Amino acid sequence: MISYHVELDDLHSHHYRVTLSVPQPGDALELALPVWIPGSYLVREFARHLSGLQAQQGGQAWEVQALDKARWQLRRPAGAPASRAALTVRWRVYAFDTSVRTAFLDDRRGFFNGTGLLLRVVGREAQAQRLSLGRLPAGWEVATAMPAAAPGRSRGESGAWLAADYDELVDHPFELGSFWRGRFSAGGVPHELVVAGAWPRFDGDRLLRDTQRICAEQIAFWHGADAAARSAPFGRYVFLINAVGDGYGGLEHRASTALLTSRRDLPVQGSEPGGDGYIGLLGLISHEYFHSWNVKRLKPAEFATLDYQHENYTRLLWFFEGVTSYYDDLMLRRAGLIDAPRYLRLLTRNLASLAATPGRQLQSLAEASFDAWIKYYRPDENSANATVSYYVKGALVALALDLSLRQRGHSLDAVMRRLWADSAGGPVDEAAIQAALQAVAGRGLQRTLRAWVHGTDELPLAELLAATGVLCGSERAGWAATLGLKLSEGPVSGVQVKSVLAGSAAAVAGVAAGDELLAVDGWRIRRLDDALAWAGRESPFDLLLARDQRVLTLRLQPQRDAALAATPTLALQERPARHALARRRAWIDA
Ligand code: ZN
Repeated sequence: MISYHVELDDLHSHHYRVTLSVPQPGDALELALPVWIPGSYLVREFARHLSGLQAQQGGQAWEVQALDKARWQLRRPAGAPASRAALTVRWRVYAFDTSVRTAFLDDRRGFFNGTGLLLRVVGREAQAQRLSLGRLPAGWEVATAMPAAAPGRSRGESGAWLAADYDELVDHPFELGSFWRGRFSAGGVPHELVVAGAWPRFDGDRLLRDTQRICAEQIAFWHGADAAARSAPFGRYVFLINAVGDGYGGLEHRASTALLTSRRDLPVQGSEPGGDGYIGLLGLISHEYFHSWNVKRLKPAEFATLDYQHENYTRLLWFFEGVTSYYDDLMLRRAGLIDAPRYLRLLTRNLASLAATPGRQLQSLAEASFDAWIKYYRPDENSANATVSYYVKGALVALALDLSLRQRGHSLDAVMRRLWADSAGGPVDEAAIQAALQAVAGRGLQRTLRAWVHGTDELPLAELLAATGVLCGSERAGWAATLGLKLSEGPVSGVQVKSVLAGSAAAVAGVAAGDELLAVDGWRIRRLDDALAWAGRESPFDLLLARDQRVLTLRLQPQRDAALAATPTLALQERPARHALARRRAWIDA
């Protein structure tokens, strides 16, 4: 069997050592390391951290030749006698990235995704693959969703696991260290939750209880509240949470997720957690868990067979990320973890974000999905002007679709379940999504959805929300936002311009990303809002700024009717019409 042995080679220099054993290698073999990790659509060139690749068979060294940046040809030297021994390949991987996407190792903790560590034996991906771990420091444990191999480990192994193929091998991240560990059952499925790096009074039981409610809600969503036990498409599920000083992010896998959170956002014993940080963590947990169905199983047809060496383009990320982003917070509401006003506040953030993105008028959701590899994952100072987030607008399209369906007596829930049933939880294309929509609601919404996904017209959210007993309003935006400025302000760094929104007062005046704002009307500023003491929000003013060592003055003329001057608000209507109230109750139980 193809087998990988992963050792902690050097904690302090952050190196893993991997030994690959390939039975019956023939006379030559090709190995390749993925250039990206599924779920994060950017070519990350994991091979840049690989070194010392060498191979030998029964004491005979093989030739190793690089074919490109991430593929190697291994060959028995000409004239060397043939051998029946397995080929042994060794290499090291530098691992010092705290993100959920690659690998990390130091004296406190280890973490890795197979995509960054484990060379693929080209042509033998469909074979079973074994992974074992070498000795671990005293007190360290292992957490992963990869099924354990049968007992009978060899010397030097602290544990062994078995994957049906290479796809599975690299879809089960590993967490190593001494971490908090808890277990619960949801929908008859055993779940495990590990938290590394938490503060001493971390309230693990609270996090366990709230996560269980999210999981139970989602299993019931997909398979019905009365579904037979173990109807979820995984037999066991593991949450791997790493707590750091500052961080937020997650990556979905078939039976687990790796999450990054700020320590301060974890619940603390003896105090009621309800802050935005904790709710944000629960939203992240809900998001990644929802992906177990929506993207790991229901998935773009283009992902049916993954190409680990190149970009895998799809126009459907708006569906798999957007719909997931819509349901992540909605599931918190349905599980009773947040109340309706709080849910509307979370929704408002999405509305405000889209409104502050001029790029929504240039790029469609389908285009944003396709270009994720070069745009969404490579943001710069012009991103808001040229692109739209398929998370943000995708979630709002899901909302618009759900509310439209509810006006007709249906719901997006039914469409999702229909799509799951029709595709047998497998790859789908846009036509399949449209077909599920038609099967649930008849004709009538397909053209609308197509326009939302492939066009750039504004979404009719105010009308749809009003028909659901929710009032859209607006409040005055901050001064910088009104001018079209995104700033970073600090007592030492001063006022730095991060980006300038297209068409805004700041853009018209010629302010540029990277400028340092020094003074307004001749008065030094440390924060832009200081100038509100003497400059009116609607009056023109002189802005002194520094750009590439030169100091210049620009005249800013605020635009009174700018859409940027207001940010959206949402509120429950006090006495909605009977139908609207019924729809609102069915939607968010309010
Ligand atoms: Zn996601």
